[in-house]
Amino acid sequence: METAQLDFLGELRRTHTCGELRASNTGQRALLMGWVHRRRDLGGVIFIHLRDRDGVTQAVFHADTGEALHKKAEMLGSEYVVAVEGTVAKRTPDTVNTNLGTGEVELVAEKLWILNESRTPPFPMEENVDVKEDARLKYRYVDLRRPHMQRNVMLRSQVSFAVREFLYGQGFLEIETPFMTRSTPEGARDYLVPSRVQQGSFYALPQSPQIFKQLLMVSGYEKYFQIVRCFRDEDLRADRQPEFTQIDLEMSFPQQERVYEVIEPMLQRVFEVAGYKVDSPFPRLTYAQAMRSYGIDKPDLRLPPFHVLDGEFPDLGLTFPPVAIHIPKTGALSSKERNELKEFGKERGLRVYDDLKKLDAKLVEQARSVSGAAPDDLLVLAGWPGAPQGHRPEETFYQACGQLRLYLAQKYNDRHKLLDPKTFKLLWVVDFPMFEWDDEEKRWNAAHHPFTSVHDEDIEKLTSDPARCRAKSYDVVLNGVELGSGSIRIHRRDIQAKVFAALGFSDDEAKRRFGFLLEALEYGAPPHGGIALGLDRLVMILAGETSIREVIPFPKTARGTDLMCDAPSPVPERQLRELGIRLLAPGGKP
Ligand code: ASP
Repeated sequence: METAQLDFLGELRRTHTCGELRASNTGQRALLMGWVHRRRDLGGVIFIHLRDRDGVTQAVFHADTGEALHKKAEMLGSEYVVAVEGTVAKRTPDTVNTNLGTGEVELVAEKLWILNESRTPPFPMEENVDVKEDARLKYRYVDLRRPHMQRNVMLRSQVSFAVREFLYGQGFLEIETPFMTRSTPEGARDYLVPSRVQQGSFYALPQSPQIFKQLLMVSGYEKYFQIVRCFRDEDLRADRQPEFTQIDLEMSFPQQERVYEVIEPMLQRVFEVAGYKVDSPFPRLTYAQAMRSYGIDKPDLRLPPFHVLDGEFPDLGLTFPPVAIHIPKTGALSSKERNELKEFGKERGLRVYDDLKKLDAKLVEQARSVSGAAPDDLLVLAGWPGAPQGHRPEETFYQACGQLRLYLAQKYNDRHKLLDPKTFKLLWVVDFPMFEWDDEEKRWNAAHHPFTSVHDEDIEKLTSDPARCRAKSYDVVLNGVELGSGSIRIHRRDIQAKVFAALGFSDDEAKRRFGFLLEALEYGAPPHGGIALGLDRLVMILAGETSIREVIPFPKTARGTDLMCDAPSPVPERQLRELGIRLLAPGGKP
């Protein structure tokens, strides 16, 4: 095949995008630019689907318009970049393409400029074609050109814009905070950046702007936000990214409800941008209620809660009163399915009663009435025959019940269709415990972060009963996914020092790590609080995707690798020497 002679862009200008032309444009001249999405050559006529980010328009090259033009169109290959000028013509009713927004018309080409060629793309550009993810990530610039990725990336941009517009409207200031800083404790490892001029010293990339946003409140900015990259070096779980984006905000003088008053309409606006309506106010559940009804701190409200039964049931020999788990419209389970269900429960320490006929009638009646289970609903009881575990022992039991509930709901979703991805159930989970017990280290960790305020009436419990000390913290949850979390902060140095002490930090350690914050709290720090929402997850859900990699333009693999630019990568010896770094050989030997 002849290679095409390339044309210059010169002064050419587009008159329309490829998604714009309609029957009302018939007879007008138009000049479009874009990529050759598809080419059909019927001998006398060549049809080109011309694509840009706005859509697809069909251009037709008739042999009788001129041999040179037709010949040039014959040279076009997939993903060539072209400009086509011609006249908009209405299609005959039998050739209208209802799949295209522009399907009522076509551009009858009179001129063609080939602006660039393309190698055969590594995978088809069509929608809904399964392509190995490694190939997609290696050729991300091609993958990002595919229509569904363009829709996701554009949605992401629209969501960011809606957030900015909303928050500016509420008087928030967009303020940047540093990327090269020192450790911010959010519970992960830091990514470190070695300093060349101060050899042996390192910056940490921020796990969040937490301390800076608090300092901005100390500095009197009152309402701050940022759509900001955060970096966490975690052992990569399935759908985590080492860098991810948060909608981060902080405000002065708020109660928890003031934060909800900002976030609820902001999320309503964001859902609206994606074409959905969500109701406000969002329900609020305390952490204790969420655990007792769903066995999880991020309940999926598309499913009914479980119910802890009332009374004493000595015959059952259980440590806690049993729980009735109810999944609507599941129908009867086969004996194989019942065995699987019991096995799943057993692995988590539960005793599952799937045959209610064998149980005391009163107990079953109570289970039926509290759960409101209909005859074709699945209703099972679960009990905890083992010894109490952990500092909040009933939670271990409820967690297992929650896992059983989700297992059943997901496993039989084809029967009841409760987990519809387009049903959006938002809620607040509030009043988390202040501390979680770290069994390995035998110490308390901050459940949120150590700057979170304790409930005024629980300050005593900081030392007397840390397990039951509640934090002024809150998560916004959607369909079983945590969208964001935040808290009212500690603004007094004396209380912050108490919390550091409860976390087992010595005075010296607290000073060394957070001395500047403790000091700042002595210079007129106002009461303040805020929240951060995960932008990637939010857009993922709005786009109907199941992985955040589908809404991050240049993501890393589950192993933290950028397959396109091959990062992380070794660096030349000279560069290491400048940084004063010598690598240990594998195995730790110098
Ligand atoms: N900095 C917290 C986080 O990244 C959010 C917050 O408390 O505002 O989870």
